Amino acid sequence: MDWLYPPSCAGCGKNGERLCTSCLQQIIPIDHQRACPHCDLPEVGHLCPDCQSQTPAFDQLRSFSKYEGILRQSIHRMKYENDLPLADTLCRMLISLFIQQNWQVDLICPVPLSPQRLRQRGYNQSALLAQILGWAVSIPFNNKALSRIRETRTQVGLNAEQRRANVQGAFTAQSKIVKHKTILLVDDIATTSATLSACAEALKAAGAVKVYAITLARTVHLDSS
Ligand SMILES: [Zn+2]
Ligand SMILES: [Zn+2]
Repeated sequence: MDWLYPPSCAGCGKNGERLCTSCLQQIIPIDHQRACPHCDLPEVGHLCPDCQSQTPAFDQLRSFSKYEGILRQSIHRMKYENDLPLADTLCRMLISLFIQQNWQVDLICPVPLSPQRLRQRGYNQSALLAQILGWAVSIPFNNKALSRIRETRTQVGLNAEQRRANVQGAFTAQSKIVKHKTILLVDDIATTSATLSACAEALKAAGAVKVYAITLARTVHLDSS
């Protein structure tokens, strides 16, 4: 593949690597010590207002960095320009973030796309990230455990309550796959914690014991996505 399509940096365009060292260094990891202990919202220093008003159904969410700059450009390129090998490069961030957490996980599941969205895009970028992470850390990956049963509108511009209502009941999980298990949910971006919480709710309703969530990026201001 690299011979047919020589890689260029998703940040600066320089040929040679999918993300060059200098661009990679510009992606600053979230300081988890100063973020919301539950959902990792950066720089709040305590439980954030969303988690205070209603605790999300997942046990903990961790994101590698804010959804901005070079990480945002790279995720865009992976998703909308079908740069699948870039997923491999980006997944290194997920792998190191996952290893830092010391979570005991039985199964890795991606946040599913609706069948319609899947047809449009051709693949689910979260499933790709989840699969690479699963291989890297030797934890089984399952793409069938969770499915989206209805389309949801964008979460942008909605308040916390509207966001929860928007994704309420949008997912369902397979009890025979998730029962008695600790699940790791994987997504590329946490725009809000509402989607991940709705997934976790479906998994727990189907018998999952614990649900952790991990994403590459985290949107901090809803209007900036
Ligand atoms: Zn670069
Ligand atoms: Zn929070």
